[in-house]
Parts: sequence; C-alpha cells; structure tokens
Amino acid sequence: MKFVYDFAEGNKDLKDLLGGKGANLAEMTNLGLPVPPGFTITTEACQQYLHHGTHVDGLAAQIDEHLAALEEKMGRRLGDPADPLLVSVRSGAKFSMPGMMETVLNVGLNDASVDGLSRQAGGNDRFAWDSYRRLIQMFGKTVCDVPGHEFEQALDDAKTAKGVHDDVQLDADDLRALVAAYKKVFVKHTGHEFPQDPREQLDLATEAVFRSWNADRAVLYRRQERIPTDLGTAVNVVAMVFGNLGADSGTGVAFTRDPATGEQGVYGDYLSNAQGEDVVAGIRNTLPLADLEGLDKKSYDELMQIMATLEGHYRDLCDIEFTIERGKLWMLQTRVGKRTAAAAFTIAAQLVDEGVIDLDEALHRVSGAQLGQLMFPRFDLAGSPSSLTRGVGASPGAAYGHVVFTSQRAVEVAAEGKPVILVRRETNPDDLPGMIAANGILTSRGGKTSHAAVVARGMGKTCVCGADEMVVGRDSFTIGAETVREGDTISIDGTTGRVYLGEVPVRPSEVVQYFEGDLDPANANDPLVAAVHRIITHADSKRRLTVRTNADTGLDAARARRFGAQGIGLCRTEHMFLGDRRELVERLILARNETDRNEALAALQPLQRADFLEIFREMNGLPVTIRLIDPPLHEFLPSLEELAVKVAVAHEQGQRVEHDEQMLAAVRRMHEQNPMLGLRGVRLGLVIPGLFAMQVRAIAEAAVALAAEGGRPRPEIMVPLVGAVQELETVRTEAEKIITSIVGDSGVDILIGTMIEVPRAALTAGQIAEAAEFFSFGTNDLTQMAWGFSRDDVEGAFFWRYLELGIFGISPFESIDADGVGRLVRIAAEEGRAARPGLKLGVCGEHGGDPDSVHFFHEVGLDYVSCSPFRVPIARLEAGRAAVTSEGSDHR
Ligand code: ADP
Ligand code: MG
Ligand code: MG
Repeated sequence: MKFVYDFAEGNKDLKDLLGGKGANLAEMTNLGLPVPPGFTITTEACQQYLHHGTHVDGLAAQIDEHLAALEEKMGRRLGDPADPLLVSVRSGAKFSMPGMMETVLNVGLNDASVDGLSRQAGGNDRFAWDSYRRLIQMFGKTVCDVPGHEFEQALDDAKTAKGVHDDVQLDADDLRALVAAYKKVFVKHTGHEFPQDPREQLDLATEAVFRSWNADRAVLYRRQERIPTDLGTAVNVVAMVFGNLGADSGTGVAFTRDPATGEQGVYGDYLSNAQGEDVVAGIRNTLPLADLEGLDKKSYDELMQIMATLEGHYRDLCDIEFTIERGKLWMLQTRVGKRTAAAAFTIAAQLVDEGVIDLDEALHRVSGAQLGQLMFPRFDLAGSPSSLTRGVGASPGAAYGHVVFTSQRAVEVAAEGKPVILVRRETNPDDLPGMIAANGILTSRGGKTSHAAVVARGMGKTCVCGADEMVVGRDSFTIGAETVREGDTISIDGTTGRVYLGEVPVRPSEVVQYFEGDLDPANANDPLVAAVHRIITHADSKRRLTVRTNADTGLDAARARRFGAQGIGLCRTEHMFLGDRRELVERLILARNETDRNEALAALQPLQRADFLEIFREMNGLPVTIRLIDPPLHEFLPSLEELAVKVAVAHEQGQRVEHDEQMLAAVRRMHEQNPMLGLRGVRLGLVIPGLFAMQVRAIAEAAVALAAEGGRPRPEIMVPLVGAVQELETVRTEAEKIITSIVGDSGVDILIGTMIEVPRAALTAGQIAEAAEFFSFGTNDLTQMAWGFSRDDVEGAFFWRYLELGIFGISPFESIDADGVGRLVRIAAEEGRAARPGLKLGVCGEHGGDPDSVHFFHEVGLDYVSCSPFRVPIARLEAGRAAVTSEGSDHR
C-alpha cells in the first residue's frame, strides 16, 4: 500500500487520503507557488497505526525513500551536524480542526546540528538556539506529554532574570541556557534525555501526530462539529523555512477576503522575526498585514499576487499561512477559509455577481446550520446599556451570562443551568470544554485568527476577542477603574465587538425580520438580507420537497406561514386539553357511565372546533394535518405521588376528600410501567368510546364553517401509533360516517391517513396503505421503538458514552439514523407507494428540520418535511441544496 506521497504527487481533491493541509500543499506545489518541498503520510497509515497501536508495515521504508528524495532536493541531510536539513511534522485531517492536533517544528536539531544551523545562517547563534529551544518545547509537549507550562515558566524566568518582556530580547547565551533548562524539564518528566537521533525524532513526532487524532480535545471537537471519528489525520513532513532569522524575516496569516463580512481587501496579521506558531498563539502583538508593504514590498506584492491566484483557482475565500525567510516568501498552507455564517451568504452572492460561480454553486456553499445561526437574536440597544469596552467581533451573536475565568468554572456554572461568558486572556485547546459550555467567549488578546476566534466561529458561538483595554486577572478583570468579578453579568456582541455591563435585552435578527416580512430585501441596503433572499429564493425554485410546519395554534401557524411553510404537517391536539380545559378532561377520564362521558365530550367539542377553525383560517388553502389525541390520558391528571400525599394528609386530619380519592383511584388504575408503550394513540380511540369521534366531528365542522366563509380548508386527519391495518380501518369506518354526515355538499374534502411510528407499521406498510391516504413518519417514536430506548431516559444516562465510543456519530434523535430507522422509512415508503400509487408521504418530528435528515428524506422520495416554525427556512434551504446535489450527481 502506498502510504507516502510527495507534494508533487497529490492534489486538492485527495483530502480523504492526504488531509486538507497535505492536499492543498500539493495543489499549491503544482500551481508553481513557492512551497517548501516535502511529503505527506496518508490518513490510511494513521488509521492502521491507531488500529494496531504499533508501527505500520512498510511505512518506515517508504519514509526512508521520500526522505532521501527530499534530502537530495534540498542538498542537505536530516540533522547533518555540518549542514542540517530540518523539517516540520504537521498534522492535517480531511476537515480542518484548528489547533486540535499537533505540529512539531525544527525536527532534526540536536546538540551537534545546532552549530551547523548557526553556520548555515551565517553564524547566527541566536537563531539556532532559539530554534532548538522551540523543538524541545514542542517535542516535549506533543510527543512526550511534558506539561507545557513548565517550559513557559522557564522562558518567563529567563526573561525576568534578564529584565526583558519580549523573547526576541533574549540573546544566544540566554537561549543556550534556556535549552539546558528545557532539557532538565524534559528529563524530569520523561525519565530520559531529549532524543538526539534526528530520524528517531521524526518517527516519534509522526506517531505523536497520529495519536493526537484521539486526544481528548480532538475527540470533543469532532463530536461538536459532527466529524466522523475514524478518518484519522495525515502527517506532512515539510522542509523548514525560517521566519526567525532577523528583521527581514517573519511569518503571517492572511485571508483573501474579510472572513466576517466577505469584503474584498487585505486581511491578515504579520509578525516579524518569528516562527509560525507565534502569530496564532498571540504571544506578541502582530502588525496588520497591510504594514508588510512598507517592510518588504517585494514579498508583499508577490503575496498579493499569490492570493489572487488562489482565489481564482479555488473560486472562493482562502486563508493562508506564509513565512518570509530573509526576503524570500514561502507558502506554508492554504485552504478554503472558514467564515462566519453571514460571510458565507454574502461571499456566495458576491461570487455570483462576479461571475465566478452560479446560483446552484452558491446554494452549495451555504448551509441550513449557518442560516440557523443568522436567525439568532441581536442586542436591542434602545436602553443605552453601559458599554465596558470594545474588542474584535470574531464570531457573531448576542450573548450574556455570568463571568467566569476558567474552562472548569464555565462547565460547573453552566451545569447549574446558568448562562456563562468565559473570559480569558487568550484561549488554548485545553479550554475547549469551557468554550462549549459557555454562551460566549471574551478574550483580551488575539485577533480574528486567534484560537478563540477560529474555534468559536466553527462552533457558531458568540466571541469577542482582543479586547485589549481589559486586564484579565485570576477571578476578575479590570477596564480602567471598572472591575468585573466572577459571577457578574456581562453581554457581548460578536458582530460589533462591543462588551456591555449587565444583561442587554435582545431583538430579532435582520434575517428573521426579513422572513417575517418586515424587511424588504430590495430596499434593505443590507447585503446579508439581499444575499439570503437571493439564495433561499433559488432554493425554493429548485427543491422538490414541500416544507410544512408543526403548529398547534393559530399564532404559530401564522408565523410559520410567513416563514414559508406550505401547510401544517403536525397539529397536536393534546394542548387543547390543557389549561382551563383540564377540568373537562378530568370529568371525561373519571366518567363512570356513558352519560357522564358524553357530557364531558360534548363540552369539549365546541372548544376544539374553535381551535381548528382558527388554524384552518391561518392556513387557508394549505393542507393541515391534525393528529388525533396521542398521549396516555393519565398525563392529564395530577401525579400519583402528589395525589397520594394530598389524600393521606386529608385523612390524617379526619377529612373526606371524595373527588381526590376518586382521582387517586383512577390514577392508580391507569398507572403504566412503560407509558410510552402503553394505552395511547389509536389504542385510546379504540378503547374510549366517542373520544376520536368528538375530534373528527370538531374537525369536520370547523372545515365546513371555513368553507361557508368562502375559505378553502384542507384538513387531513392523522391517526397516531397505528401498528396494524385493522386499527386504522376501525377508526376510518367510524370517521367516514361522521364526516359524510357533516360535510354534505359543502365541497370540503378530508383525507384520512396515519403516522408511521411503530416499526410494525413500517414493515406492513403495504397493508396499511390500503386504508391510508397519506403516511407521516413520526421519526421520534420510530427512533425510540427501533432502538428500544426512551429518549427521556437515555439522553442523560448513556448517550455521552455511546458518542464517546463512536456507536453514534450523533444522537439519532438529532439526525436520522439512516441505516436503521431510515431503512424502516425506506421500506414503508416503497411498499406503501407500491400498494397505493400517489400515496402522500411526509415526516413530522424534530428530524424534519435537521439539515442532514432533510437530505435523507429528499433522497428517499418523501413529498414533504414538517418542522417547527423557526426551522422552516432552514428546511427550505436544505431541501433546495439536496435537490441541487442530486441533480449534480445525475450528471456524473
Ligand atoms: P496548524 O494546523 O495548527 O495551523 P501547522 O501544521 O500549520 O499547524 O503549523 C503550525 C505553524 O508552524 C504554522 O504557523 C505554520 O505556518 C508553521 N510551520 C509549519 N511548517 C513549517 C515549515 N516547514 N517552516 C516554517 N514554518 C512552518
Ligand atoms: Mg496551520
Ligand atoms: Mg409519536
């Protein structure tokens, strides 16, 4: 098996095998850009290494071969004491996981070659010893788990001893002493000397990069980002170039457009006399990239040209890492850049305007998840909140919460159910749990490319960074005379970078206002609203799936309709049994004879009719699927414990409480071990005479009433929890009789169908279709029953472990389990349609608004998805994307 690829052998489409970094290094090499030579060890080698836990057969020989070729090309041998070749050993997975895995620079240095390196650099001892101390530090931390802060402490001690602030102020002797100190730290923690053999360094670093795929923070990040656990990382071995050779050298990062807004221009940071990781780590204050023009015009111009080449080539925003070694520019990385959700839409629309991509491609480049982020509320500044300071708006959103200063506190306070803002000088990968727990992140250092900014953007979490007026201490921060302590509340605006004291009220986002119809996309001089309008309109023109909403009230129905819902896919009737109607429901449940029961039902019926009429009016002309009552009736009664106590206390005091006693007896009688699998759904309708009939009558009467007003009601009656066609037939026969008697010649047409949510229903769909005019997949129950677990019990109890073990990539309640539950959907869809061509198929339940699931339902051939009102635009967008994707694959 081929495990090692020279950069000249790869290309950008080999991300699976070479990782994103390796594939793009190869692509740049082949574009003729100045990339230091090197090779990539494949993700397959990593997978094998992780699987066997030892060396990979044949890998060492292939590395030998490619290393020899690299040495040949460079005219130097790895770690040669006289004239050493040094390399970096860099992780790089298919999906970018910023800062999650490891990189070791300057591999090949040792006590002998450090002098050779100095001679190479014209007798620059300072540079050579700085490079050596960096190697020991990175190697120690990454390969041997030496606690990084001990190295940092040693560095701080060296600076303090010398009375300087900046590591560039340390001279060669200081650094030589620092290397000695680092080596002591190394021995103390590993029990052995820092390895002097260059090839051993390379192999150990390679294996450490492999292992870093499974580091806790990488695992956590993948779970958060839904990245599969089994991909592995590639390893890139790259000839070193040096940005720390003096004032004519340096290192930087750049974007071809502003990653927050998509505006074209020069964006990035530059740090002179530094090695790569210094920029991102925020160790020293960086210069804006535009300043490079004054420092080194030739390199600057070349960089601008390369950036234009890359944008043209990738047809998208790219981000870039580069190093200048003594006036010579080297490209060290590029990729299609991460961006905020707003920028994703505006950039896609801009590129369409520029004629670079078409609208189908634009649709590919945005996602429902991003649209969801844009629907977050914004701060309402009408009350002129007190502004504390301003930093860089690094990841949009409006967040407030209790201030905490450590990742651990963030996790603890969030576990108490409180919103949290994590405040740090700068974040590092160890802060990931706290960043996930927090509502927002605020740092005093670093820019849009800092760890905090990149990770927060990736997670869609509000982040303000580089608020440099802020002095962050252990349990408080100060800004001028103002002190904010742990537990105080602040609000941060990730768009403007503003930080406010206290909790600032929020208002709906522009995108929501647009969907509400309050913002005209043609008038709005907001490029984001215009971009969203344009792209979602295109999605609507492409999608095959209809999008309906789940709504139980006229209010929800009206909002969802404004958001583009084309009907109601699920109207739950149980809420109509709550509130002041509870008493009637109790009467119904406690009824001892037919008369009592009929009285209670008769009292409920006009109330239900009014509810339905309101909803039909709001959805005039569009289908409305009403589910007959589904939950077990005891859910409408007080709990067993509550009643038992009440009755016991009354008896204690010698009182008789007849009503409560009756109720207690009823609750005892109705108690179920497994209510989820008990007397509910269609079973209720078959057991409690008149219950379903009352609902059907209310629906038919409401429909006739709307028709009489001149409206066009399109009710669909949905029977829940059917497992056998006989159940549905029994309900249907009764319902049809009622409907016929009410509808008469009003022209109202009412469909009768069923949910498919019991596995048996899916497996006998061919029979059930004989009695159903439509199926609606209740994927929540179908998931519970297919897996045999109840959602409420399992999510807290063991899902975390299943996610950790990779049994789930993501909770099957969040995204449909295509292999198992999805298979049931497929079977039911195929067999249902075979039995009744034209059978209408939809899905209701959480999955209807989940981007990945929408693609699955499109592919299975359903007619519609139904989701909560706020998810309707997301489902529209994703349904459009699914249509365009499958169109694309047809051509192939
Ligand atoms: P990450 O994925 O965290 O960005 P990288 O592998 O890109 O890690 O490396 C970390 C830093 O080291 C980057 O700034 C990169 O530009 C720099 N770097 C990597 N390889 C080299 C090299 N061969 N010469 C000089 N700098 C390098
Ligand atoms: Mg990098
Ligand atoms: Mg259900």
